[in-house]
Amino acid sequence: MPLAAEGTFTYEIPYDFDYVGVGSRVLVNFGKQKMYAGIVRALHNNGPSYNTKPLSDVLEKDPVVPEVSLKFWEWMAEYYMCTLGEVCEAALPAMFKIHSETRIFAIEKTVPETLEQDDARTLLQIIIAHQEMRIKELLTHFSSQKLMRLIKTLTAEKYIGIREAVSEQYKPKVTRTLRLNYNLAAKGNVDLKELKRAPAQKKVLEYFWKAQGAAARKAVKEGAGVSDAVLKSLIDKGWLIEEEYVVDRLVEQVAEPEPLPQLSAKQHEVFETILSEWEKQKPTLLYGVTSSGKTEVYFHLISRIIQEGKQALVLLPEIALTGQLVHRFRKVFGEKVAVYHSRIHAAQRIEMWHDVRKGERFQVIIGPRSAIFLPYRNLGCIIVDEEHDRSYKQQDPAPRYNARDAAIVLSNLYKAKVLMGTATPSLESLANHKAKKYALVKLVERFGAFTHPEIVIVDYAKWWRRRKVRAHLTPILLSAVTEELEAGKQVILFQNRRGFSPYLQCFDCGHIPVCPHCDVRLTYHKRDNRLVCHYCGFSVRNAGKCVECGNVNMKTMGFGTEKIEEELQAILPDARIARFDQDATRRKNSHERIIGQFDQGEIDILVGTQMVTKGLDFRNVNLVGVLNADNLFSFPDFRSFERSMQLLMQVAGRAGRHADNGQVIIQTSQPEHSVISYLQEGNYGVFAEQELQQRYQFAYPPFTRILAVTLKHKKYEVCKRAANLLATACKKISGLQVLGPQAPVIGRIQTYYIMELTLKMERSAQTLEIKSAVNNAIAKVRQAEGLKSVIINPDMDPY
Ligand code: ADP
Ligand code: ZN
Repeated sequence: MPLAAEGTFTYEIPYDFDYVGVGSRVLVNFGKQKMYAGIVRALHNNGPSYNTKPLSDVLEKDPVVPEVSLKFWEWMAEYYMCTLGEVCEAALPAMFKIHSETRIFAIEKTVPETLEQDDARTLLQIIIAHQEMRIKELLTHFSSQKLMRLIKTLTAEKYIGIREAVSEQYKPKVTRTLRLNYNLAAKGNVDLKELKRAPAQKKVLEYFWKAQGAAARKAVKEGAGVSDAVLKSLIDKGWLIEEEYVVDRLVEQVAEPEPLPQLSAKQHEVFETILSEWEKQKPTLLYGVTSSGKTEVYFHLISRIIQEGKQALVLLPEIALTGQLVHRFRKVFGEKVAVYHSRIHAAQRIEMWHDVRKGERFQVIIGPRSAIFLPYRNLGCIIVDEEHDRSYKQQDPAPRYNARDAAIVLSNLYKAKVLMGTATPSLESLANHKAKKYALVKLVERFGAFTHPEIVIVDYAKWWRRRKVRAHLTPILLSAVTEELEAGKQVILFQNRRGFSPYLQCFDCGHIPVCPHCDVRLTYHKRDNRLVCHYCGFSVRNAGKCVECGNVNMKTMGFGTEKIEEELQAILPDARIARFDQDATRRKNSHERIIGQFDQGEIDILVGTQMVTKGLDFRNVNLVGVLNADNLFSFPDFRSFERSMQLLMQVAGRAGRHADNGQVIIQTSQPEHSVISYLQEGNYGVFAEQELQQRYQFAYPPFTRILAVTLKHKKYEVCKRAANLLATACKKISGLQVLGPQAPVIGRIQTYYIMELTLKMERSAQTLEIKSAVNNAIAKVRQAEGLKSVIINPDMDPY
């Protein structure tokens, strides 16, 4: 099957080929002049009636995809209603998916001496000359077989790279070093008198005469105490030689593993229970309050699994946000740990792939949802941390899968055990427990028996009316913050919106600037003085006056993290305040930097979006403030109460993890709201029970299944007609309840109008038959007059 194509295709294996098996990666010609790498799905002897083309090459000696992975991917394509090619696209590293349009770029600036093979030198030369090229263009110089082999060599040596995805460009990390040119600048050669007039240059030379060897540019600057200009003049003179090295990102200092900490009595009990449930092959839900030591329990379970010589997969919601946690795993399991994430180099991804397939070095694989696609050799267990987290669900593009649910299927294929851990279980998982599909184990005490933080609800509107709110903080929250700072403690403030303020509004004519491509208001970012669309990234400079009436009376409405940071700084001038949101962490490693600074006590107050809710563990934080809880539960979605409850509990979980007097202050204008009162009682279980009853009553998941179908088109009329046609066709399918079509809350994104259909089915329904009927209906709409260009995406379990 050529990747990313609709289905599978038949090719002939030339008789003189090396071993070709199921899962082998092969090179094929496709259509005219198109070259693809493909994966062999099956071998058979009943050729089709038409003439088959021969395979062009077998790219590796062994199959790269094990048969279980192929089975898993096929399940995924069927369940989530997409093509096998789309699953392959998500599953395979870019290096494996090479085709004629793939772009190759140069990492080196010159051809290194050490590269011996002539062909490889020629190819690298060509790529360097063009900086970036498509494979198609290179095919005029080399045969496809030869080219693939050379590209493999050059990528493995990191001389070239492959564009992984258009949005995420890999930039190799480069360090620059300096060394002395001994021919010109050795100690005896230099005329010291001449140097009298250049004391700074002399300092640099002395630095090298003393230290010798090469040194990082930064170290020279600091060591000799000189500026960049001085170094530059020495380089220009030829006395210093500058060299660039590409640094391997994966190579991390791995210390000797530390011994596992002893589990507390409660934790040990839980550990034993999980093992016995695992004995019975039951996926197990570990419902443990925040800071109860779930992670420590994971460590002990994993170490059992790897003692049996098996691999453990640990899924984490967002790897960038969980550096702290990854670090803890490395401490315990040392170099057995592989971290699979989007920022690793294409060549390393391949190395990791092969290693996981052979099961040699890596036994603990940590990754975000996409790690479920790795070709495990002998998977022993899967741990899904924070199983309720919505980032396990891939929204776009297809496959729109949920990694937590897919993990159950994957575990069946390997007979592996599953543990899902969370302080706020999803309602689906609780329902699965009730249906006796999952075992449930609880850990209700914080480690060290610290008490849960006290939850204080503050009526924001009341203080607002009395004009007592400053920098969006009520006097109650403000005085608590001041008290903490005086006691030398740190504070986390949570606000669900980034930017300065959600929008601007003209005070004279009421005009609100909106995105020209989406139906949303533009968010005002003060630092850049820009209005930004958070849906498509569109941005425009803030002209400071209304585009409608021309008046200069624009007011900022609402507030985001940036505004809080600024206003808070004005009333607490001595506090060191930092922001933790998408804008503050755009640059590489800035997550780690901010977290590190906070951990080291270099920041007093961290103002953040939900990024601050994820699994962080700070010793010195007793107070967490939620600035505005209202915009969480006012979102029109059947899951918004569940989501806001989970989010608020997670935020609260950051307070007092290592002390008894933790406090969470929640500002809201709806203090009577049911979510708020459940939160105050601190009883997630009771909340979940109530919520499940509601879902049952209104026939929502987890008691039914939902298949959402999204239709998009640039013309509203076309979109609407297609949606109506599809709705009519779906109403004829038995076992399916059709809601809509309707426009979603945001009816247009990136110039595409959107319509949605919600298709509900009973849990007991014949879902496979229903799905194939829906697929047929979709195909019919696509064939209808004038509707060919409508984009139609089915999304199973769209939450
Ligand atoms: P959770 O994953 O449930 O939020 P953690 O595993 O992060 O909880 O534990 C919270 C804190 O308590 C961490 O700092 C952890 O190191 C510590 N801790 C938990 N259990 C133990 C134990 N058995 N021995 C030593 N420290 C522990
Ligand atoms: Zn937009």
